[in-house]
Amino acid sequence: MVLSGKQCIAGDWVKGDEGHFYAIEPTTAKKLPTAYSCASVTQVEQALCAAASAAPILRKLPLANIANFLETCADEIEQLGEPLFLCYCQETGYGLGRAKAETQRTTQQLRLFAQYVREGSEHLDVRIDTAEPDRKPSPRPDIRFVNQAIGPVVVFGASNFPLAYSVAGGDSVAALAAGCPLIVKGHPSHPGTCELVAQALCRAICAHGLPAGTFSLIVDEGFERGRQLVLAPQVKAVGFTGSLAGGRALFDLANSREEPIPVFAEMGSINPVVMLPQRLTECTQEVAKDYVDSLTLGTGQFCVNPGLVLVLKSEALQTFYRQVIQSLAEVEAGVMLNQRICQAYLAGTSALRQHSEVHSLGGGQPVVREDGYYVRAEVFTASAKTFLADVSIREEIFGPCSLIVECESKQVLERVLSNIPGQLTGTLQVSEQEMVDYVSLIDLLSQKVGRIIINGFPTGVEVGPSTVHGGPYPATTDARFTSVGTAAIFRFLRPVAHQNFPQSLLPTALKNENPLGLRRCVNGVYTCEPLVSA
Ligand code: NAP
Repeated sequence: MVLSGKQCIAGDWVKGDEGHFYAIEPTTAKKLPTAYSCASVTQVEQALCAAASAAPILRKLPLANIANFLETCADEIEQLGEPLFLCYCQETGYGLGRAKAETQRTTQQLRLFAQYVREGSEHLDVRIDTAEPDRKPSPRPDIRFVNQAIGPVVVFGASNFPLAYSVAGGDSVAALAAGCPLIVKGHPSHPGTCELVAQALCRAICAHGLPAGTFSLIVDEGFERGRQLVLAPQVKAVGFTGSLAGGRALFDLANSREEPIPVFAEMGSINPVVMLPQRLTECTQEVAKDYVDSLTLGTGQFCVNPGLVLVLKSEALQTFYRQVIQSLAEVEAGVMLNQRICQAYLAGTSALRQHSEVHSLGGGQPVVREDGYYVRAEVFTASAKTFLADVSIREEIFGPCSLIVECESKQVLERVLSNIPGQLTGTLQVSEQEMVDYVSLIDLLSQKVGRIIINGFPTGVEVGPSTVHGGPYPATTDARFTSVGTAAIFRFLRPVAHQNFPQSLLPTALKNENPLGLRRCVNGVYTCEPLVSA
């Protein structure tokens, strides 16, 4: 595996001019050997100028060319093989199985978007209202609507998904598929993984003869280059996955610009799971085991981790608790992605342990290693009264920690749910009868979350056309969009109407003969037929 520790500035691999840093292996807390050089202001400026030059070319690129490019990106990532897995595992502490699964998810995502943009009808969303010169009292002009690429997009990769939400992850593929140049601010926890994937993207860019400014990777440890990117006038949108503090800071920064731009930040979530008594009585063991599995998967480092459980006080609860304690006790200590995330977890769980009204229900196996960023899973309980009175215990503790809140009645449970801010997901564990008796909870959840799950758990986000990975603030900064699935492309498109254009000047998608074979809305009717001019 050859890692250069360099930046990729519009296809050129150059040494950063602003010092260097090392990735840390989370299982040992030791430095990995490659020194990663940090980008200078000038180098970031070069990437921005190249992206701005590439934008008008990419915007007009035929759909088939974009699709072919995305497929080559997937092929090139697949070609990285074992060296990628090795680097990924070293930098994250995740196992080989996870490395392979996340690679597959990333390449499938690229291919899904390729298929989606090749067909084109949905994301271009063509609408044609032909002229009605004789309309009374005033004639109607010919107006033709199509979505076009927004311009250069900056993506901040997530620490917890070094492939699927990073250099060629969900935000990036949505931007490229839309026809936008992409600048990625790599996460300093996994710079080697970022570099390998960036090399794959560069090979695909060369193979398809795309402009060099199509893609840059900025490597830096710290906030300055990220801030520079968000403030740069060339940048037209930002995708971010990470902490509430980080997402909010970048959102505020983007709004402070002379020309504010959208920041699509996906941030913290505690993903409430409501477990009702009959369901707990009927399926105690299954629910307890699935809950603990979901909570501890990937050492709990998922934005859709079930961090909050709401239960009604009932006889079933004690049996359920026994099962949870038993399942948890079998879970080995897990490694966290970096020191900062590990320390935040230890501080968060320690605060809950010291809280006089919060009780530790049980935990996983203790940490035996003295090196590395290992932690133990833990589940706590508190009353609804405590939860409602103390906002500090409602905050996300990123990792394998969950709080079970005991409610005296349906009304109290509804009050607790009403007091939770926006979330990515909400889950109901319910029996057939409870689905009827507690149907009001669905309405309540639908106002709070982007995805409602019945009798499942929130971990395991499917990537598809119907996926919604989003939700009201603070889960995201814009609840109207998803950051996963093909609909994520709409964050990086904007509509343009063409009024009274001659055929020769219209974009291909809007021409009468419908050369792309798109499904278009013509005078209010969806059709794939060409438009016969009167
Ligand atoms: P983070 O601290 O928010 O950092 C994410 C990226 O944003 C990093 O590249 C970081 O830069 C950059 N950044 C953060 N704040 C910034 C600022 N004020 N100005 C400019 N750039 C900024 O997230 P993280 O490192 O991935 O994990 C920390 C916490 O985020 C976790 O403990 C967890 O609570 C949360 N998290 C949430 C999700 C989710 O899916 N919602 C996923 C992962 C983590 P540098 O690192 O280079 O300084």
